[in-house]
Amino acid sequence: MPVLEVENLRTYYFVGDKTVKAVDGVSFKLNKGEVLGLVGESGSGKTTIGLSLMKLLPSNGKIVGGHIYLDDGTDLAQLSEEEVRKYRWTKISMIFQGAMNSLNPLMKIGDQIAEVLIFRMGYTREEATERAKELLSMVGIDPIRVNDYPHQFSGGMKQRAVIAMALASNPEIVIADEPTTALDVTVQAQILEMIKYLKNRYGLSMIYITHDLSVVAEIADKIAIMYAGKIMEFNDTRSIFKHPVNPYTKGLIESIPTITKAKAKRLFSIPGDPPNLLNPPKGCPFWPRCPYAKDICKEKEPPIVNINGGYSYCHFSEELKDVPAREFWIKYLGEEALL
Ligand code: ATP
Ligand code: MG
Repeated sequence: MPVLEVENLRTYYFVGDKTVKAVDGVSFKLNKGEVLGLVGESGSGKTTIGLSLMKLLPSNGKIVGGHIYLDDGTDLAQLSEEEVRKYRWTKISMIFQGAMNSLNPLMKIGDQIAEVLIFRMGYTREEATERAKELLSMVGIDPIRVNDYPHQFSGGMKQRAVIAMALASNPEIVIADEPTTALDVTVQAQILEMIKYLKNRYGLSMIYITHDLSVVAEIADKIAIMYAGKIMEFNDTRSIFKHPVNPYTKGLIESIPTITKAKAKRLFSIPGDPPNLLNPPKGCPFWPRCPYAKDICKEKEPPIVNINGGYSYCHFSEELKDVPAREFWIKYLGEEALL
């Protein structure tokens, strides 16, 4: 059962007389109790998707097309600010990128969580303080720490506190934007475990945003691979890792460092850089970096091809679907590039 269905979402930013097509025709479904990993390089549009779903875009950003359906049929994309308030935080909530670094240093953690409850849920101060303690223990922090200031918390604890704030109003869907990026790997693993626990215990549905494909391997049921405002490939986690179809996905998979690659002289990275979204290439956005690119890729937008149970945004999805990631890149760049 999908709790969220995004259809052909387009969100643009307007800068002077220029348009940045940050999200350009994105579609996906999120099922109840599922974690969807939204993965892509910096600037690919991940945060813009999150902010669009929350309807909290900066003033120069606008949803210019598409639909954001909730399970009751409501289309968030069409709602006025006043109508959206019924759903924001209670139905769908977000942990903002870098939020743990913007906790107020002069205010007790418990009070900051309480503020959220008073503001979003209309709690009294007493009710809010009680609930703040419950929320802290939900994310594995001793409620006795409710009177601590942010500097008394470790990085992992700050991140837990920020997650507690996103959970304050019992949302069904949580968007977590790079929640573990600033943390060291052991703490990152603890936070991922906690998210898994919350998902299983409370049946949360989640969109987990990260630039690191190996992180979502741990927790995502499905993965959407983003590039320049498009979803290049969407499938269940196993298929993305075992049978990547899209050349870009194959490149990301091959770029993950592993023990067996440790002997290699250098790590593989996809040649070139992501496009400037103020002036994106015509046709497929990945063609300037794709070794398989043909004339059609430079001219025509690729179709969304249903394949292997998911979909791929590529003219040559059928031809490339069975070519393993490593073989694909060796074939075009030569053995040396991957040794
Ligand atoms: P990161 O991994 O760095 O967080 P992201 O995938 O979350 O990146 P977004 O923040 O969604 O990417 O940005 C998508 C594109 O939109 C980028 O090209 C970015 O420069 C541009 N952008 C973001 N916010 C604005 C804005 N307010 N005005 C103009 N352009 C913007
Ligand atoms: Mg971002």
